[in-house]
Amino acid sequence: MYIDGEWCEAASGNRFEVTNPATGDVIGDVPDGGAADATRAVEAADRAFGAWSSTTAYERADLLYRAWQLMTERSAELAELMTREQGKPLKASAAEVKYGADFLRWYAEEATRVAGEWLPSARADQRFLVLKQPVGVVAAITPWNYPMSMLTRKMGPALAAGCTLVLKAAEATPLCAQAIFGVFADAGAPAGVVNLVTALDPKPIGEVFTTDERVRKLTFTGSTPVGKMLAGQAAGNLKRVSVELGGHAPFVVFPDADPEHAAKGAAALKFLNSGQACISPNRLYVHESGRDAFVETLVERIGRVKAGNGMDDGVGVGPLVNDAAVAKVARQVDDARAKGAGVPVGGQRLTGDGFDAGHFYAPTLVTDVTDDMLIRCEETFGPVAPVITYGDGDDVLAMANDTNYGLAAYVYTNDLSTAMRTFEGLRFGIVGINDVNPTSAAAPFGGMGDSGLGREGGRDGIAEYLEVKLGGFAI
Ligand code: ADP
Repeated sequence: MYIDGEWCEAASGNRFEVTNPATGDVIGDVPDGGAADATRAVEAADRAFGAWSSTTAYERADLLYRAWQLMTERSAELAELMTREQGKPLKASAAEVKYGADFLRWYAEEATRVAGEWLPSARADQRFLVLKQPVGVVAAITPWNYPMSMLTRKMGPALAAGCTLVLKAAEATPLCAQAIFGVFADAGAPAGVVNLVTALDPKPIGEVFTTDERVRKLTFTGSTPVGKMLAGQAAGNLKRVSVELGGHAPFVVFPDADPEHAAKGAAALKFLNSGQACISPNRLYVHESGRDAFVETLVERIGRVKAGNGMDDGVGVGPLVNDAAVAKVARQVDDARAKGAGVPVGGQRLTGDGFDAGHFYAPTLVTDVTDDMLIRCEETFGPVAPVITYGDGDDVLAMANDTNYGLAAYVYTNDLSTAMRTFEGLRFGIVGINDVNPTSAAAPFGGMGDSGLGREGGRDGIAEYLEVKLGGFAI
């Protein structure tokens, strides 16, 4: 773990192993921290806050620029580590390292753009000044699916704002977290400004993060049930909260769109990270007029996706995170099949040489999905594309909105009015219009409803780490 500027063991002295999800091999071991370690990390962050929040924005930007530069220089080794620990294909890991580093550069720039306001008053003898100040110590909890960019997306804006931070990495990917903290250590982060706790049991750490008075803000990325629970705990102590949670993204193909083009987009998007992304499309709605062409293209594209160890050339889909994830995907596909869905490609766990020791599920297409199927409402988090056909009489916008989640949605249309109406009408925080990658360090990422609170990235992303202070001056 990295606490108060030092690499250290857990107070208990315990460690836990990390395995490669493609091969089952143990690839390392890390300290198994507990409440005492989390508290020590919070103390260090609290001690460091005074000096760090008093640095100039230019000094904070310099640290973030150095971290960005180091992360970029180390991109090849970071990508390899990510593939071994998390499983995604090497090319996808390299793309994530770049995306993760982008947050450091973008917030290095943004650090110097945080400005207040001078407001007019109705009183001649009064002036109003609005000042932005860092919220204080930030506690962050991150997931395994994007094990580097989910850290930098929080660390970039928190440090730029002048906050100090304690972070608990996901138990499946602590080595990636160590590598990111290595970047900050080597970039010269002062002691206590960034602190990392690793732990096999997240609960005691979460309790410290949500109850310790010195923590002023909780930022969490992970599943909806855990996010709701932690947000509740933190809100009970009136901490600022942002949570980025699950999704159930609709992908709507309107009759005027080219169904083949849309299918190519859907295939490229769906199998990113083996479908283990909160913005992965979970319902592909295609108008009946384009259905056959859409499905045919998907069959052909998905049939070509090679599953395997992400280190091997040509692999497009890596393993899932663990056996429970494979079982969840299998349960959804089997349920759909039993209720009458078609499964023209995939539909089973992958076994045999190169697969048995890992957690692999075949890239899968499910057609004729109906409302009574689990996959229609449960988040899948696996390499399964479910197709729902709609007709002229159906209100596809209402169908797309029929979920408690509200993270990402995708629309294919060539009609400007349809694009605008749908963009406005979808109750989702992120809408891709003929675009399957609506994410960037410069853009606000986040959801509505059960998908969370707050935004990460862009100007909105740094606002999550700032308090607004009003000064009324009588002159
Ligand atoms: P996933 O299904 O993606 O693993 P989780 O919400 O379980 O989603 O995990 C996301 C992050 O939340 C991980 O870092 C995990 O350790 C952490 N986490 C899970 N349960 C708790 C908890 N009770 N308290 C604090 N953190 C938790």
